[in-house]
Amino acid sequence: MPKVGMEPMRRKALVDAALRVIGDHGSLAVTMSDIARQAGVSPALAHHYFGSKEQLLIETIRSLLRQLRNDTVTALAAARTPRARLSAVIRVSFHADQFAPDTVAAWLAFYAEAQRSEETRRFLVIYARRLRSNLLADLKVLLPADAAERIAEGAAAMIDGLYIRQSLKSAPIGIEASIALTEDYLNALLATASLSPEGEGTTTSNHPRTNDMKAQPKASHFIDGEYAEDTDGTVIESLYPATGEVIARLHAATPAIVERAIAAAKRAQPEWAAMSPMARGRILKRAADIMRERNRALSELETLDTGKPIQETVVADPTSGADAFEFFGGIAPAGLNGSQIPLGQDFAYTKRVPLGVCVGIGAWNYPQQIACWKAAPALVCGNAMVFKPSENTPLGALKIAEILHEAGLPKGLFNVIQGDRDTGPLLVNHPDVAKVSLTGSVPTGRRVAAAAAGNLKHVTMELGGKSPLIVFDDADLDSAVGGAMLGNFYSTGQVCSNGTRVFVQKAIKAEFLKRLKVRTEAMLIGDPMDEATQVGPMVSWAQREKVISYIEKGKAEGATLIAGGGIPNNVSGEGYYVQPTVFADVTDDMSIAREEIFGPVMSVLDFDAEDEVITRANASEFGLSGGVFTADLTRAHRVVDRLEAGTLWINTYNLCPVEIPFGGSKQSGFGRENSLAALEHYSELKTVYVGMGPVVAPY
Ligand code: NAD
Repeated sequence: MPKVGMEPMRRKALVDAALRVIGDHGSLAVTMSDIARQAGVSPALAHHYFGSKEQLLIETIRSLLRQLRNDTVTALAAARTPRARLSAVIRVSFHADQFAPDTVAAWLAFYAEAQRSEETRRFLVIYARRLRSNLLADLKVLLPADAAERIAEGAAAMIDGLYIRQSLKSAPIGIEASIALTEDYLNALLATASLSPEGEGTTTSNHPRTNDMKAQPKASHFIDGEYAEDTDGTVIESLYPATGEVIARLHAATPAIVERAIAAAKRAQPEWAAMSPMARGRILKRAADIMRERNRALSELETLDTGKPIQETVVADPTSGADAFEFFGGIAPAGLNGSQIPLGQDFAYTKRVPLGVCVGIGAWNYPQQIACWKAAPALVCGNAMVFKPSENTPLGALKIAEILHEAGLPKGLFNVIQGDRDTGPLLVNHPDVAKVSLTGSVPTGRRVAAAAAGNLKHVTMELGGKSPLIVFDDADLDSAVGGAMLGNFYSTGQVCSNGTRVFVQKAIKAEFLKRLKVRTEAMLIGDPMDEATQVGPMVSWAQREKVISYIEKGKAEGATLIAGGGIPNNVSGEGYYVQPTVFADVTDDMSIAREEIFGPVMSVLDFDAEDEVITRANASEFGLSGGVFTADLTRAHRVVDRLEAGTLWINTYNLCPVEIPFGGSKQSGFGRENSLAALEHYSELKTVYVGMGPVVAPY
């Protein structure tokens, strides 16, 4: 069994060796053993890691593409104007790492390989599309669309052509010469286009920035009722997880954008708070109606943003957001009542008052739902919100902002700004912010809570979990298997409340695993836009790598692999896919039983007795959720009573309608979302004592 820790290094050594050997000899003449020898890895181990030479080549292309993409994002971030960004794309294409004669020769060998390998061809098409769309995005700012498209095509072809010249190792053309040639070519074409006899072109164009990227929003942020941009912000590329294709390019908020958003919220909030809850609720209910009318389009956007299958997003994402707007819109008139407290002839009364400017920070697994679950209670209580989606999924929240304003929300009350872990603190530390609600991981939660404590902001923390799902031997077995699958594989396992530690009583273990294996292996993995697909990709390459590393740990630490355990072979291209995976014979001390994986990896653990399983289920730093399957309802209530978690299910799993409170205990967070309980987290009580008689003072 390979040791954990060595595998990533050996894989990398094999990929590096493949690049060298293929650069020297082409892909056809080279065998897996040649590459393994160069890498100093045994051929058997190379086969174990990659299965075939073709898969190793695919991984090698992937690593080149990843490097290119990372370099491009960094270079684009540093460039300030469209013309400078075009130069950045050109420079990155001829970067010394990619344009080294050996690497160029390997690229060429991949083109040869693509003539016979469908999967290699797909990757090269992705690369070609990416280069073209990176050029086109900025050309379209400078030129009319048709001219921009022509020039993008030409410049991309010129870059490809220079790669062919560079591969003639005896007479390489060189980096600087290649950059200069491409720049000259581009300048000439830009000048011609701007002087075209039709007079359509102009290099100082006022063209609105259009884009052929599938999901490009009008601008990165939504502030004070309209889209806003500041191209000084770091570039955020939105990638479609099923293909790795760039579908939008946005900018992280600069400090100036953060200030604008918070100032707009602060300005708008008092007038909104002065409206009746009924009037506020009416706007939210209109927003719910619009979301339902546009469910299909919103769901498709959510699928592009996250990679989750459309069969899920049409029933679970915008619809759940709409439910939150409808629920909080509907309860507003009664839910915000205060009380009257008789005190003899005097009395007191309480009022529920808003907090002011609230910040919402989202994770990437349910972008639209998270935006709505935070916006709905915040707004209905009379607050304003600045929401920052995850940098992995920047698109959905902008649509929610558009819809709220279309429904009549006054400007400034729901603002969306983009950004990452560097942007979040600008919001959390801002003195004008009264509350922060975070959905994210435990480490982020600790940082955000600590920062918010600095000036005693209100905080809600919706964090991670490693929840237990306990199946007793009297349970309805098919329901329990179905519950375990829903609680591990929905949204490709990227659900915080997942029951990832499935404790199965020993008497039914064999039958449980048999049925689970059959149903898991029958799941349809594939194109998320296909209605039939049940399992899509992970949200990002990084998340896919993380999940695969846990699968490897599971194997290395001695768990028994029952289903899955790798990359599905029916999907190709650069999608971030992982097979739904089941491990049995998992013990409490294994990494896969202790740490949150946030992917489709189910751990099945055996148990004998009720007391034992409760103790083991509670032996975790997390306390988000839990579940029990049993026909004995007395036992079910007894067990959930003793489980340390915020949300529990009996004979079902992971259902979270907005009517019920949702949230965690222990390290999984505090505060609750949804239900009447959420109102308490977005408002505070003001108490008024009313004296009805003369003041009696002892002095
Ligand atoms: P993450 O913690 O990496 O990021 C969450 C958000 O916090 C992102 O928007 C990120 O940009 C922002 N952020 C990061 N550092 C920050 C800082 N120092 N200050 C302010 N903001 C900061 O989490 P993720 O990877 O996006 O999401 C996965 C995690 O979220 C998992 O742990 C999952 O369990 C959890 N989650 C919890 C719930 C829940 O309701 N309990 C729901 C969904 C996801």
